[in-house]
Amino acid sequence: MYNVRSMKAEEFISDEEIRETLAYADANKENVALIDEIIAKAKLGKGLNHREASVLLACEIPEKTEEVYKLAEQIKKDYYGNRIVLFAPLYLSNYCVNGCVYCPYHLKNKHIARKKLTQEDIVKEVTALQDMGHKRLAIEAGEDPVNNPIEYILECINTIYSIKHKNGAIRRVNVNIAATTVENYRRLKEAGIGTYILFQETYHKKNYEELHPTGPKHDYAYHTEAMDRAMEGGIDDVGLGVLFGLDKYRYEFAGLLMHAEHLEAVHGVGPHTISVPRIKHADDIDPTAFDNSIDDETFAKICALIRVSVPYTGMIISTRESQAVREKVLPLGVSQISGASRTSVGGYAEPEVEEEVTSEQFDVSDQRTLDEVVNWLIKLGYIPSFCTACYREGRTGDRFMELCKNMQILNCCHPNALMTLKEYLEDYASEETRKIGMKLIERELEKIPNPKVKQTASDHIHDIAEGKRDFRF
Ligand code: SAM
Repeated sequence: MYNVRSMKAEEFISDEEIRETLAYADANKENVALIDEIIAKAKLGKGLNHREASVLLACEIPEKTEEVYKLAEQIKKDYYGNRIVLFAPLYLSNYCVNGCVYCPYHLKNKHIARKKLTQEDIVKEVTALQDMGHKRLAIEAGEDPVNNPIEYILECINTIYSIKHKNGAIRRVNVNIAATTVENYRRLKEAGIGTYILFQETYHKKNYEELHPTGPKHDYAYHTEAMDRAMEGGIDDVGLGVLFGLDKYRYEFAGLLMHAEHLEAVHGVGPHTISVPRIKHADDIDPTAFDNSIDDETFAKICALIRVSVPYTGMIISTRESQAVREKVLPLGVSQISGASRTSVGGYAEPEVEEEVTSEQFDVSDQRTLDEVVNWLIKLGYIPSFCTACYREGRTGDRFMELCKNMQILNCCHPNALMTLKEYLEDYASEETRKIGMKLIERELEKIPNPKVKQTASDHIHDIAEGKRDFRF
């Protein structure tokens, strides 16, 4: 029985409710009066529920889809402005005891090079990342209680935060590790993590169990209820995600929104971010073996509908996607992207040569340097942001949402983006990026509505040129 407030996975992600939702969406996908009503509701900027959003996803009337795209663009502008936050993944270890059939880290893969970073390796990796200009990382690890216990992860987080190289610093560490206990989530919170990210992979229980045939990840309920445990452990920024291609996208989309509704209903705060990865080729993984892959058009529609349905939730696109696809979905509501990513363990300090036995998790489509990504964003009219202020100012969970809901972004996030971009331009940018970036900052400073904030931001930007660092609102 569906119950959004239940703490049981099978009740808040009820298979029956998803099936009924899909049937309702099919029955109404040409019901123009209802579709217009849903779009009108979405225009209020307060989001849509999984049933309403599923109708829009099923609808194939081109003008209506066009309206959804326009609305997604508008909501993105209203809530996020033109900022795009940048981050990089850092792979700590690819030892893993699970059997996930889509991931090359699965236990039976004897071909892949198994690696685990030592604390000395981490210093090298993080120094390389700082030298590119990164300030925000997402750490990644396989699940292995012997090789990667929580103590190892905590030690790595400590090491990462302690590394200060030239003007560099990692100011926010997000964590993408396997589902764990309330106690371990509490320890991660105490270690000062930003968002805890865990992809659901698929919300379809039966297929989930088949796709995760062995290992602790096989337990659907334990995995699906992880965000509730994380919140119980004090982590109020959690990141959801589905690995598109594993199951039917309309099923996943409804499940994803139901999960967001559940977190909001139970904890009073929805997910901080949603990621939308698609399966990629990897060592012994052939993405064509999965027959639910989605084309770029459908992918864009999903992104637009996530933006419209959960306006306060950030959306992340990784380098699994090509430059062209990223360019297509950026205006539809993406707020964060990774740049210059390496998905191999130790790949920043020592990039793997192609012929070698790899430790990579998947092939990266967008292989540009961080400077190329920053340059590209500026030319597209976005502000590349290295901001980590909210979390460091204690604006997490509902406090971050308040900022968003009160539309204070232009007086807070906007100047923070400009100040962190200025740091990047001073310390790491190429000459050309620096030139176009400085012009962008001048233009964008004018958009700050509060004159006092504008003056302070302008003063800080001047101070950054003089060598000072790390200002924030
Ligand atoms: N082991 C942890 C877990 O189970 O959640 C950490 C996550 S793993 C390092 C990061 C994510 O990469 C997975 O959750 C999965 O969605 C994604 N992934 C795995 N194999 C992939 C592939 N072949 N292509 C694209 N993404 C993949």
